[in-house]
Amino acid sequence: RKGTVIITGASSGLGLATAKALAETGKWHVIMACRNFLKAERAAKSVGITKENYSVMHLDLASLDSVRQFVDNLRGLAMPIDVLVCNAAVYQPTAKEPSFSAEGFELSVGTNHLGHFLLARLLLDNIKQSDYPFKRLIIVGSITGNTNTLAGNVPPKANLGDLRGLAGGLNGINSSPMIDGGDFDGAKAYKDSKVCNMLTMQEFHRRYHEETGITFASLYPGCIATTGLFREHIPLFRLLFPPFQKYITKGYVSEEEAGKRLAQVVSDPSLTKSGVYWSWNKNSSSFENQLSKEASDREKARKLWEISEKLVGLA
Ligand code: NDP
Repeated sequence: RKGTVIITGASSGLGLATAKALAETGKWHVIMACRNFLKAERAAKSVGITKENYSVMHLDLASLDSVRQFVDNLRGLAMPIDVLVCNAAVYQPTAKEPSFSAEGFELSVGTNHLGHFLLARLLLDNIKQSDYPFKRLIIVGSITGNTNTLAGNVPPKANLGDLRGLAGGLNGINSSPMIDGGDFDGAKAYKDSKVCNMLTMQEFHRRYHEETGITFASLYPGCIATTGLFREHIPLFRLLFPPFQKYITKGYVSEEEAGKRLAQVVSDPSLTKSGVYWSWNKNSSSFENQLSKEASDREKARKLWEISEKLVGLA
C-alpha cells in the first residue's frame, strides 16, 4: 500500500514543495492539513499534484478545538497514519502588538508550538499502530532558534528563560505574551516557538521512541528566502533578503530543493535514526547537526512538555 503522510501548512512554501515531492513518487498519499481549504486545493493543482495522491483536510492550528476536530475527522476515515509533518508556522516580525489564538495564547507560540504539540500528542497512537516501514513524526525546526549558529545570533535571540510567561498562559492579560515573561517581540516569539519545536521533538524521542518505534526528527532545510513566511516583513526586506541569502550567506535554498530535503526525512530508508536534527551541506547531503545549548536542554524540554500539556488540556 501507499504510505499516508499528513503535512500541516501544505498550502504554500516548504509544505507544498514537500507534498509535491512525495506525491510525485506515487508511493505516498498526502493529507494537506490546511486552514484555507480553497487555497490548498488551488495550490495542489498549481504545482500539478494529481488527484489520487492527495486530499485536503481543514486544520487551523491557532484553535485547539480545530485540532481536536481534525483528529476526530481523521479517525472517522479509519485510514492508517504513517507520518506526521508539523510544518505550518506564522512569523510576525513587524507586529507592534501581539495577536492571540482562539484560546488566547500569543499567536506564534500558540500556532507553531501549542497547536502542533496537541496534534502530535493526539496522533501518536495512530502513528504507533502503523505497519508501514517508516513511521515518523517530524517537526520542522530552524536555524534561527539555534544560538550556536551565526543566523541564530542575530538579535533578538531566542530565549525561553524560566518559561514563566508560558506557565502564565501567554495571554498578555495576567501574564506576558512571551515565553520568558518579557515584552512582546514578534521576531523573538517566532524564534522561541522554533526552540519549542526542537525541544518537543527530543522530548518525544526520549519518552516514546523505544515504546513505539516511531522515528522522531527535526530539521533545518536551509534558508528558503522566497516563501510566504516573510509576507509580513517590510517590502525592502522582502526585496533584499533572497539575494542576500543567495550571494552573501550562501544559505539560500529553493523551495523545490527544501521540499526534497523534507521529503527525504519523511521517506528515505537511511534516515531512520530518531532524535536527530538534520541539516544539509553544500553538496546537499544530509548530516546530523548539533542543537544549541538551550535547544538541547533536557530539563527545559521536560518542563516545556509539562506546561504545554496543561495549556492544551492534556493534563
Ligand atoms: P509559508 O508561510 O510559505 O508556509 C507556512 C504555512 O503555514 C502556510 O501554508 C500557512 O497557511 C500555514 N499556517 C499558518 N498558520 C496556520 C494555522 N493557524 N493553521 C494551519 N496552517 C497555518 O512558510 P515556509 O514554507 O517558509 O514555512 C514552513 C516551515 O518552514 C515553518 O515551520 C518555518 O518555521 C520553517 N522554516 C522556514 C525557513 C525559511 O527560510 N522560509 C527556514 C527554516 C525553517 P496559509 O497558506 O493559509 O497562509
